[in-house]
Amino acid sequence: MRKKIAAANWKMNLTIDQASTLLEDITSAQLALATHQLAIFAVPFPYLSLANNLVATQQNMFIAAQNCSDKAAGAYTGEVSANMLQSMQIPFVVIGHSERREIFNESNAQLAAKTDIALANGLTPIFCCGEPLAVREENNQNEYVAAQLQASLFHLSAEQMSKVVIAYEPIWAIGTGKTATSEQAQIIHAYIRSLIATQYGESIADEISILYGGSVKASNAVEIFSQPDVDGGLVGGASLQAAEFIAIINALP
Ligand code: PEP
Repeated sequence: MRKKIAAANWKMNLTIDQASTLLEDITSAQLALATHQLAIFAVPFPYLSLANNLVATQQNMFIAAQNCSDKAAGAYTGEVSANMLQSMQIPFVVIGHSERREIFNESNAQLAAKTDIALANGLTPIFCCGEPLAVREENNQNEYVAAQLQASLFHLSAEQMSKVVIAYEPIWAIGTGKTATSEQAQIIHAYIRSLIATQYGESIADEISILYGGSVKASNAVEIFSQPDVDGGLVGGASLQAAEFIAIINALP
């Protein structure tokens, strides 16, 4: 059975005290995650160590970095390498969030390099894709997302690909309060899975978790997560409140 994942993306929010209180509130809720269910927290770099310690004794709770460098090491002031994350036992890294693509101009080619270096260092990439509003309005979202996957992921071997988690995040739904309908999410998730099947075969496509992101909250998570090709969510705003995110974790099928 493929993994069902509730992934929190804290972005550039919270002080260290707020971060530890939030994580302590969630870890003390005694969530009984089944073997196929994961809760992941993508926290700011300075909190990785603290957060990793706080989830260390928790069943199926893990920490992610929100980004990593496409370079291995060296004179890249301000960057954080995949090797550094590996050396801190951080298992996941978010790659290609639309904010990285749009604000920091990360290209598909750079995201391919980040995916490669993350995998080479034993990290699981949570690879984000998704279209802007203008593309959705023209009904060209399938072509847009296919091009993103083709350019950044489809050079991977089948073995590498089987380690990737994909997050489909329509940009028009991120932080806007607008959510794709569960039907819209299901249609494009099924399409993404079909692209993976064409490239790598049905059994790999069946194993890959495809998360939905874009204004997921406690009140819509059950419906969105119940779609057959939606394997959980990548959650921004609602992941900053313990009760909301606990309910989202509990919405995992
Ligand atoms: C995100 O940051 O990945 C996200 C989906 O944000 P929000 O849930 O706030 O829309």
